[in-house]
Amino acid sequence: MNIVVQKYGGTSVGSVDKIKAVADKIIKKRAEGFQVVVIVSAMGKTTDELLSLAKAISDTPDPREMDMLLTTGEQVAISLLSMALISKGHSAVSFTGHQLNIQTTSLHQKARIKDISISRVIEAFEDNKIVVVAGFQGVTDNHEYTTLGRGGSDTSAVALAAKLGARCEIYTDVEGIYTMDPRKLTKARKINKISYAEMMEMASLGAGVMHYRAVEMANKYKIPLYVASTFSEEPGTIIQFEGEDSMEETVITGMASNLEDIQVTVINLPSSTGNLYRLFGQLADREVNVDMISHMITEDGKMYVSFTIPKEDLSIAEDIISNWQQEIPEIKWEINKNIAKISVVGLGMRTHSGVAAGVFKIMAENNIEIKMVTTSEIKITWVVDSCLEEKVITLIGKGFGLVTVE
Ligand code: ASP
Ligand code: MG
Repeated sequence: MNIVVQKYGGTSVGSVDKIKAVADKIIKKRAEGFQVVVIVSAMGKTTDELLSLAKAISDTPDPREMDMLLTTGEQVAISLLSMALISKGHSAVSFTGHQLNIQTTSLHQKARIKDISISRVIEAFEDNKIVVVAGFQGVTDNHEYTTLGRGGSDTSAVALAAKLGARCEIYTDVEGIYTMDPRKLTKARKINKISYAEMMEMASLGAGVMHYRAVEMANKYKIPLYVASTFSEEPGTIIQFEGEDSMEETVITGMASNLEDIQVTVINLPSSTGNLYRLFGQLADREVNVDMISHMITEDGKMYVSFTIPKEDLSIAEDIISNWQQEIPEIKWEINKNIAKISVVGLGMRTHSGVAAGVFKIMAENNIEIKMVTTSEIKITWVVDSCLEEKVITLIGKGFGLVTVE
């Protein structure tokens, strides 16, 4: 049996007309001889609206009741889509997360899928039914409703595909994965094929169209993924394993940038590994997510330690360092709130040397100061002044062939 799992995001089912159009698209797939399972998100901005209703009741809504509320969004979408399929003469049945026993951990709004029982899906297939499943939701061992975190329907789709040994198609409002978010790089190019490793880096940088955990799971269970637009026939992006025919010709596959971090520099710390541990240990204890780190030891045995953290954690960092300053008054610190973190990602970096040099060359030729750099096997990240973000994006986009050529 040829099974395909298709996922339609909120904008794809944002109105009754769109739901009818999605039904036609599913029917077409069915006519090609596939058994189709469809995962749907809540219609349009429903989840946002439900969240604001809850916030109007309480600043800190009860987490269990929040999931009771949020899961209704997807339930509306699955029933309407199923009705649309039936009214067009096809057999279809919708299931909530509870009905399919999408078992999750119990942390409300951040639950993780543990297992899914596919027996009802298989039964429905035997009756020749199209199966429509609510994304983003699950149920704990105690039958409490849970949700998987914003954008979690992608993860529902991949998990179901993994259980069914099926391929997974993600339909959305853009035509696939782009070299960069087109809102930041207007001429960003659509990527035809991207590797899982690159896609995971892009998703974790917040640049991808997909939920990070979904990509991670697809990689783990070797689920073929395809991302494309719901209402266009343009081919989308295939996510594939390395070595499966050739990837893009370029060394750099994509770029991401964010303005959400700040740079903290601690000056005059007595140099010792113990002190590094104390600093980052205390940040970790208070759940501050440190990203880039660089440190330097001066001739007189002092350390300069510079690191980036999310803006909202500034007061925690200041608290930790000022407590230390009580003990050692010469410790000082500087905060830079105006930074942009730019990253380029590409498998080609493994085999091509000089990618970092290429970045530095472009920065140097344009007199752009680099405040910090880190590299990993397939990623280079560097920090510049936030007012230079757009300029850097344009320069790197052109320099590394990430834009469409006219
Ligand atoms: N409806 C949920 C959200 O808006 C889940 C999803 O769209 O994937 O976050
Ligand atoms: Mg959504």
